[in-house]
Amino acid sequence: MGKTSRLVILTTALWLATSAAAQVTALTHATVIDGTGAAAQRDVTILMESGRIQDMGPSSKIAVPAGAGVLDLSGKFVVPGIINAHGHVGANPEPQLRQYALYGVTTTTSMATDPDEIVRLREEQKRGTLRGARVLTVKHRFMGPDPKLVTPEQARAKVDEIVAGGGDFIKVWIDGQGGKRAKLTREFCAAVMDQARKHGKITMAHVYEYADAKMIVDEGVNILVHNVRDQEMDADFIATLKRRNVSVISTLMREEALFVYGEAPAWIDDPFFRKGLSAERLAILKTRKREEQANDPELARNKRAFEIDKINLKKLSDAGVRIAFGTDSGGDPYRFFIQGFFEHRQMELMVQAGLTPMQVIQAFSKGASEVLGIDQEFGTLVRGKAADLLVLEKNPLDNIASMRTIQAVYLGGGKFE
Ligand SMILES: [Zn+2]
Repeated sequence: MGKTSRLVILTTALWLATSAAAQVTALTHATVIDGTGAAAQRDVTILMESGRIQDMGPSSKIAVPAGAGVLDLSGKFVVPGIINAHGHVGANPEPQLRQYALYGVTTTTSMATDPDEIVRLREEQKRGTLRGARVLTVKHRFMGPDPKLVTPEQARAKVDEIVAGGGDFIKVWIDGQGGKRAKLTREFCAAVMDQARKHGKITMAHVYEYADAKMIVDEGVNILVHNVRDQEMDADFIATLKRRNVSVISTLMREEALFVYGEAPAWIDDPFFRKGLSAERLAILKTRKREEQANDPELARNKRAFEIDKINLKKLSDAGVRIAFGTDSGGDPYRFFIQGFFEHRQMELMVQAGLTPMQVIQAFSKGASEVLGIDQEFGTLVRGKAADLLVLEKNPLDNIASMRTIQAVYLGGGKFE
């Protein structure tokens, strides 16, 4: 290569770097719901630069720099990107993260035993390559029975291994599945929780039964990643959750999806649902899956769990326990826990349970970012945080289903397409 062509390449590279850094996008005259719980603010301008919200405020006070790309959002609504604090990605993550992002989910978790590829992707994302939703992982999920993981010493060693392998959180799965499965012992769970605390890691527990929730809260867990679904909670336990700053994720959509396909709901023909799965998968859903759920011996139990989840969610919310948004979407494809769609249906179910649209928006922004320990960077729309946000055609405060009217998804300040 000659001297001149090297110089041209160098100059071009420098120019690209400079223009990328200086590229400002201005969203002007939008109505903004920032996720803090504050009322919607009309006629706001948001300046996005280098992946962040560089400035934000009344359009009359924010000067749009010369050369900025300007989008007039008069009549449109801006909300934070959806954070799914209970999701599953697993193998072949990229198309799944892309699907989440297209539905407006800008951050998800993956909470089973996750391949190393997820850690690699997460690191790429931190360097700025965003081909889909941001992802955080538990790396491994403790669940009984596992002959290699029995003693407290084994539990502690495994926690060390998860942390060394790049796990963001430590998760235990405590569920007897109606007596069909051996649960993790209290002693084992206590060792996991204690070792996680030594590493400063946030802890999560899958629970179903009230007794298990009480046990693991006693052992210091930070998040219940499902609601209690066998009994209504009492005021004492709810007060304990609040005092100990334990957060709860109610996965109502998951509970509904255990039986609703058997009832052939109209929404499975809605284009908004249809875009989340292939024609082949839809055909299976309408035949084999429908049959199975309609004749499921667990049908009554599943419906009851769904109703109890709703009651407990409303109680927790009214008492001021932190509610974080999550769905359990993804995982085994045969579950038909459709990534992206699930998050929107979950919002509607939370409103059916008695929460306001504002509380739902807070749950997927402020609440979810706080429980995952990422609220310095993500969650609410505030100057300095990541520019992960959605532009909507209609006001979600009037009807939470308007969260579906997505005109644009901005992920790290760039329009995701
Ligand atoms: Zn799950």
